[in-house]
Amino acid sequence: METKLLDGRALAGKIQEQVANELAVMQRVPKLVVVLVDPSEAIRIYVRNKLKRTAAVGIQTTVQELSPTVSTEQVVAIVKELNQDKLVDGILVQLPLPDHINTNTVIETIDPNKDVDGLTSVNLGRLMANMPYLVPCTPLGCLHLIHQAKADLTGLNAVVIGRSRLVGRPMAQLLLAENCTVTIAHSKTRNLAALCRTADILVSATGQPGLITDNYIKPGAIVIDVGISKTKDGHITGDVDMERAKGIAGWLTPVPGGVGPMTITMILTNMVQIIKQNLDNK
Ligand code: NAD
Repeated sequence: METKLLDGRALAGKIQEQVANELAVMQRVPKLVVVLVDPSEAIRIYVRNKLKRTAAVGIQTTVQELSPTVSTEQVVAIVKELNQDKLVDGILVQLPLPDHINTNTVIETIDPNKDVDGLTSVNLGRLMANMPYLVPCTPLGCLHLIHQAKADLTGLNAVVIGRSRLVGRPMAQLLLAENCTVTIAHSKTRNLAALCRTADILVSATGQPGLITDNYIKPGAIVIDVGISKTKDGHITGDVDMERAKGIAGWLTPVPGGVGPMTITMILTNMVQIIKQNLDNK
C-alpha cells in the first residue's frame, strides 16, 4: 500500500494566508503577549518561530521574558495585569515553566477569553461540553491534518496515545465531537499494539521515539505523529518509526514538517477567533 504524507508545512502555509486575509479585512492589529520564563535554547528557537509567523499575518506580538527566579505569585500578578490590559487580545504562557512555579495556578489565572492556547479549565470544559471556543493548538492542528485525509470521520475507531492536558485529552474530545469511537491509551495501557491495530485514526503523543512500528498500525490507517524527541546525533524524530510505518499506514505525518507547523498556525486561528468574538461583543 502506498503511504501518503500529510504535509503540515503546506497546509499551515495555506491557513496562514487565510488568516492574513481575514485580519486585513478586519482592519485591526491584534496584540498577543508571550510570557517566557527561563526558556531552554529549543524553546527560545520555537518562540522566535512563533513570532515570525504572527508578524507575517499581521499580529503584533511582544515577549515578556521574566527572570528565572520569578515566583508563582509574581507570574500570576503579571498575567492578571495582562488580563486587565484592554490593548492585549491574547496571552500565551510558554510551557514548560520551571519546576518551582505552579503551572496550573498560572494557567488558571489567564482570562479564558484571552487564552490563545486554550489550556484553561474553562476552555477545556467548553470543549468537553461540546461547546468549543479556544481549543488547544496541537490537537486542533492534528484535526486539520486528519481532515486532509478524510472529510467525514463518523464511525471511525480512533486511538489517542497520551493523556496530557496539552495534547491527549483535548485530542480525544475533538475526535469524539467528530463522531469517532475514541480510546485514550497511556503508559499503563495493556496490549497497546493490539489496541492500536484497531485504529482507523492513530494519534501518538508520547515523546517515545520509535514506539509505533508496523505492528501497531492497521493497514490504511491515518497516523498522526505528535511526538518530538531528539536523537543522539541531534536530529528531531517522532513517536513513529517511519520506515516501518511506510507501506502500512494510509496517511502519515512526517516529523519534522507535520504537526509542528500546524500547532503554531492554530495560535493564529485562535487569535482570529478572539478578535471576532471581541468585535461581536462591541
Ligand atoms: P506528556 O509527557 O505530558 O504526556 C505523554 C503521554 O504519553 C502520557 O500521557 C503518558 O502516559 C504517555 N506515554 C508515555 N510513554 C508511553 C508508552 N510507552 N506507551 C503509551 N503511552 C505512553 O507530553 P505532552 O505534552 O502530551 O507531549 C507529548 C509529545 O508530543 C512530546 O514528545 C512533546 O514534545 C510533543 N509535542 C509536540 C507538539 C508539536 O507541536 N508537534 C506540541 C506539544 C507536544
